[in-house]
Amino acid sequence: DTIGRNLARAVAAHPDREALVDVPGGRRWTYAEFGRDVDELARALLARGIGTGDRVGIWAVNCPEWVLTQYATARIGAVMVNINPAYRTHELAFVLRQSGVRLLIASTAHKTSDYRAMAAEVRADCPELRDVVHIGDPSWEELVADARRTDAERLEAVAAGLSCDDPVNIQYTSGTTGFPKGATLSHHNILNNGYFVGELVAYTEQDRVCLPVPFYHCFGMVMGNLGVTTHGACIVIPAPSFDPAATLRAVQDERCTSLYGVPTMFIAELDHPDFASYDLSTLRTGIMAGSPCPVEVMKRVVDRMHMVEVAICYGMTETSPVSTQTRRDDDLERRTETVGRVLPHLEVKVVDPATGVTVPRGEPGELCTRGYSVMLGYWDESERTAEVIDAGRWMHTGDLAVMREDGYLAIVGRIKDMIIRGGENVYPREIEEFLYTHPKIADVQVVGVPDERYGEEIVACVIPRDPADPLTAEELAAFCDGRLAHYKIPRRLRLVDAFPMTVSGKVRKVELREAAAREKA
Ligand code: ATP
Ligand code: MG
Repeated sequence: DTIGRNLARAVAAHPDREALVDVPGGRRWTYAEFGRDVDELARALLARGIGTGDRVGIWAVNCPEWVLTQYATARIGAVMVNINPAYRTHELAFVLRQSGVRLLIASTAHKTSDYRAMAAEVRADCPELRDVVHIGDPSWEELVADARRTDAERLEAVAAGLSCDDPVNIQYTSGTTGFPKGATLSHHNILNNGYFVGELVAYTEQDRVCLPVPFYHCFGMVMGNLGVTTHGACIVIPAPSFDPAATLRAVQDERCTSLYGVPTMFIAELDHPDFASYDLSTLRTGIMAGSPCPVEVMKRVVDRMHMVEVAICYGMTETSPVSTQTRRDDDLERRTETVGRVLPHLEVKVVDPATGVTVPRGEPGELCTRGYSVMLGYWDESERTAEVIDAGRWMHTGDLAVMREDGYLAIVGRIKDMIIRGGENVYPREIEEFLYTHPKIADVQVVGVPDERYGEEIVACVIPRDPADPLTAEELAAFCDGRLAHYKIPRRLRLVDAFPMTVSGKVRKVELREAAAREKA
């Protein structure tokens, strides 16, 4: 179905239930109010000359207008282009031009970012960009006021002409391994994916879901917004951008039952000095995704945040995003060692990247996925699309995985991150898990740097728990000795204050690797 028709059904089914809560702005919408505001914005977009297939950019931190824009563009079949709020003029101009955005909806200002000044700067370079609207300034009010220039019949006529296979969204990948790629996704792709993700954590109208993850990324807008509204639950926005204390407070004050985050967000919440003062007892579930979760963190999330049913999801922007998910009654072992089982109506296989032949269970290979979730393609880049989606419609993920005997999938790492030291394959994730148990290590990333003798050498980049008493190279060596195979032991230690991160909360290993390699040179 289309996203617009699906929302209309939710509005009809439970008009008086809460749909959206904006904690920092103190605003609330029931489903009836939300549906009404979505339609108003949809009519306003039509009045501004935005039609089916036209691109509308959203370049904003989390706020209710983001969510309204998501559903209003879908309602009229416009293609919403998610733009990273951390982007600066150069990247913004690139995305606007690449996707041919006609109308840009942007934040006004947040922290040190002046979105008005940056948008004004790029306008001359973007000939297709006709209109810029800033949320929370008069241009937003003017846009909404334009709704009176379109009547409801016109909106219904436009909506009736839409198909669920139409593109609805261009979502950019996180850019963890290079410049982000724009995945073109249909209503069918993301609506179904959101629905099944919500189904597997058993959302009902009673659920209230706290979303500190950025909406611009699929985690927030599909697993979050769509996963919530397809089940009549409520979206809770704790803050414009990630803030651990604001998140904990929103969970407490809004009595949230579910909380999302990448592992680093959960770590920041658990380690917050005021953690113990918040009442989180309403939480029962949540989703952790995006990168591997250390066992210790998972234990604390389950025990101290009461999220006994927390799900682990694995996926990528190109597959709407989720392909596998843990189930409600899975034990801690499955929640930490695996990323769950394949979602209903999807297929996965693990192949030898060189030959494409499926490898036996228990052996690592490249993970491939197929089914309704596979994107239409990269926007305007058919060659790159053909590199990842083969003739059989299998998406080649670039991730190394093991299919276990029990049908659960374990992610070993990215093919690009695998270290080959002296002919041995070394998976950074395994070493990171091990080092994470050292008391002096707050967080750790393992990378390979070029080495004349072994091809690659292993470097541990460590954030010390106590900067006044950091881990030493001798302590690292002693800790690994006898407990890790010789060829897996990091030969160098690099102490850092923080890791380079993407806005979706992932460590940019490429940058760490380059920095580590430079240091030696
Ligand atoms: P880019 O493709 O631009 O380099 P990216 O791959 O990080 O960036 P996303 O689409 O946001 O962009 O992320 C998908 C990737 O995230 C997957 O291919 C996988 O490597 C990683 N990932 C997602 N979920 C998990 C998980 N649960 N455990 C481990 N890795 C995960
Ligand atoms: Mg990727």
